[in-house]
Amino acid sequence: MSLKNKVVMITGASSGIGEATVSLLAEQGAKLVLGARRVERLKAIKEKYPQAEIYYQTTDVTKQADIEFLAKLARDKFGRIDVLFNNAGIMPTAPLEEKQVHEWKAMLDTNIMGVLYGIGAVLPAMIQQKSGHIISTDSVAGHVVYPNSAVYCGTKFAVRAIMEGLRQEQIDNNIKSTLISPGTTDTELYQSISDKDSSNQILKLQKEIGMQSIDVAKAVVYAIDTPAEVSISDMIIRASKQR
Ligand code: NDP
Repeated sequence: MSLKNKVVMITGASSGIGEATVSLLAEQGAKLVLGARRVERLKAIKEKYPQAEIYYQTTDVTKQADIEFLAKLARDKFGRIDVLFNNAGIMPTAPLEEKQVHEWKAMLDTNIMGVLYGIGAVLPAMIQQKSGHIISTDSVAGHVVYPNSAVYCGTKFAVRAIMEGLRQEQIDNNIKSTLISPGTTDTELYQSISDKDSSNQILKLQKEIGMQSIDVAKAVVYAIDTPAEVSISDMIIRASKQR
């Protein structure tokens, strides 16, 4: 099956890399099921692509029931789920000594549990189909640790381990697992940083050297659009001026 008519469920579809991926897939005739908390953004995205089959639902990935409900929407509307793009994430970075416990927990809940809930929600359908593809947005920060980003890096290292475990467990069910690790990309991610100095620093870096969301989205689409015998397990996409 080419991209046309592929059923793709995307979390974190309301902005940045998720939204850019929606734009490419909608143009190529994929059937899309979108989740994020800002439902008005999802509505506007659907309206931008009137030719595409798009459904959306308010989804908070820290709530297992929300993701199960999103997967149910995909099955009810299309009868199957070919691809899950686990993309939702936050990055409220700060030094550990600041003891931002609520932000640590929010990152663990969103970046790790959100990915696990996504996997758990689609695996039964994919195992039954004997085919599927789960893609998670990791980060260069899932490969390298930066100061002030210990917890964020920890969540992305965890996602890398989870996705490799998934890949090995599901080979015989023809379920592919792909980790997409972007570097600095010009998105709204800095907005999740409560510390003004840190968020201004990241915003400056994004504007100076950042890739565009569409650059990363192209890699996601490339990974989706591979034949059955090809599985891209890992892609690191750095901004070319990134250290
Ligand atoms: P954005 O802030 O533009 O997008 C983040 C998306 O995640 C939004 O759609 C947001 O939707 C969604 N999201 C956040 N929390 C939740 C939640 N609890 N439930 C549901 N959706 C949620 O940033 P990016 O596009 O950059 O981020 C996408 C992914 O890329 C993240 O996983 C991020 O860690 C990763 N990444 C980004 C990099 C960058 O430089 N930008 C570099 C490396 C990785 P809403 O607020 O509507 O819920």
